[in-house]
Formats: sequence, C-alpha cells, structure tokens
Amino acid sequence: MAHHRTEKNEWADRHRQELTTRHSHEDVLTDREFELLLEACRDMPAPRGFEARFICLLGGRLGLRAGEIAHFDSSWLDWNRKLIRIPQHEPCDCGYCQRQARQEAAHNGQLTETNAVASRWHPKTVASARLVPFDLSLRIELCIERFVNRYEGFPRSRSTVNRRVQEAADQAALPGRIYPHCLRATAASYHAYKGVAPVPLQALMGWSDLATAQKYIRISGSATADALRRVHHR
Ligand SMILES: [Zn+2]
Repeated sequence: MAHHRTEKNEWADRHRQELTTRHSHEDVLTDREFELLLEACRDMPAPRGFEARFICLLGGRLGLRAGEIAHFDSSWLDWNRKLIRIPQHEPCDCGYCQRQARQEAAHNGQLTETNAVASRWHPKTVASARLVPFDLSLRIELCIERFVNRYEGFPRSRSTVNRRVQEAADQAALPGRIYPHCLRATAASYHAYKGVAPVPLQALMGWSDLATAQKYIRISGSATADALRRVHHR
C-alpha cells in the first residue's frame, strides 16, 4: 500500500502549502476597515492625507496597482466618458523605472539597458493597459477632480505610495499588514461581492486570465447565492 501513503503525503503537502502560502486575497479589507482607512487619511497632515486618500480610493475601489498610481497622469483621464485610460507606455525615468529597467536588462540578454529605460514606464502586463471607469461613486469622482485641480500627475515616487498606505493604516490602527497590493485585492473582492461578472471584473483589474476573476467571484460566494436564490425563491 506504499503508493497510497505517497498519494496521501502529496495531498497533505499540497494542503499544507495552501494553508501556509499567503495570497493577497487573504489580506482583503472589509468594507468597515476600508472606511476606517479613508477616515484616517482625513486625520493625516496635508498634503499626505489627500495623497493617501487618492491612493486608497484608486487602489481599494478601482483596483489600480501601486506602479499605476505612482505614474498616474491627468492626461489619462477621459472626462466625457469618465474613464481612466491606463496606457501601454508613459515616458518616465524615475528611480523606480531605472531600477526596473536594469533588472529587465539583466534578465534578458537581448535587451540593452538604454532600450529597457526607453520602454519605461509600462504596466505589468499587456492586459494591464485598460479602461477604468471612475464614476462608480461620487466620492471617487470628486477625489479625482480634486487631484487634477492640484497636480498634473502623481507628485511622489513609487515608494511613497507604500509609505502613504502604511501611514494611513497606522493612523487607523488597523491590525495586520496593509500594503498597496491588498488594496487592489480589496477592490477585486468588493466588485465580486457586488455581483460583477467574471469578464468585466477581469477587464477592470487587467488580469491576463479569467481564472483570477473566477477565483474572487467563487470566494465571494455571491454568484452561488444569487443562482440558488433564483432557483428556490421563484
Ligand atoms: Zn517611473
């Protein structure tokens, strides 16, 4: 029965791995925690509080990545259609872009560092270039209006995005680790709970595969509940 034991061990290993691997969807903030975080931004000194609020709303409700927020430019906004257009390319040679370019060139013999810098900034994947509607709520829309009244683009570095989120989390005294990527996971989870279907959720988040959207929707359970209620409550 040796192979039984092996199978059992493999299963146990996989199970253990699933239990110990941390996924950002586990660090999703509840609606209450997210409100507390926004409230805390108000108690931070200017202009850090406003910058933190902008990051929290764009990350935690619209699902923008930290790199996208750090490279946000007012030219990305389509005011008529109320859309943020995350471009394929935004010329940039900030410290973060230079570091990323050096890494890319080091891992790819075909790519010179000059070419790698020239292609910066670009979003994480091809699928990340996308349209994000910003009129999902009035507070997001107003925050973006206030932002462009003040700035042409995000005025700080990529690492500042992390620091602002950290400061807001400390100010809110929220337990656990809070970082930009868990804001993005919070946005995905929020829309999944609201009942957004896999394809639009994938498009909003800029995921390359549908499976990630399906995972968030499965975890939210709302699609299951809706389908069962439609059958039983008719
Ligand atoms: Zn840059």
